[in-house]
Amino acid sequence: MRPVSVDGGHAVVDPGASGPVLVGTVAQLFAGLSLAGLGEPPQCVACGCAMTAGRSIVVAAYRPAEQARWQLGRCYCQRCAPETIETPTLGVMELQVTGRVGTQSAVHTQSHAYCLLDPRVQAVSLPERSLYCSRRGDD
Ligand SMILES: [Zn+2]
Repeated sequence: MRPVSVDGGHAVVDPGASGPVLVGTVAQLFAGLSLAGLGEPPQCVACGCAMTAGRSIVVAAYRPAEQARWQLGRCYCQRCAPETIETPTLGVMELQVTGRVGTQSAVHTQSHAYCLLDPRVQAVSLPERSLYCSRRGDD
């Protein structure tokens, strides 16, 4: 994809059938991302501890090659998090992102939601990698 302009640090690339695509850093794309679906508050999938606001968190995110939207798969506390992506999936871009748990408030509904703050990439698996390739020593 060829960038057609740059807007606030995001590259705006040629619009496709579903509209323009913005390309940004992980910090730009994941800062403030909702942690809804990972528990209220988010819970480590390994030890079950509650990760309340201010705690360090490690989040596994993935995006199938044909989709634009990132999904959050699971989260870990700092102590339980694997150091890398242990089972890469062919055709899926996967990230392991560290950060802190924050909260967002919606004043009009008096509600709060957990979100990701200060995201940083810890590990990356590109769509062309898979567990099979990794075992063959193609790293
Ligand atoms: Zn844990």
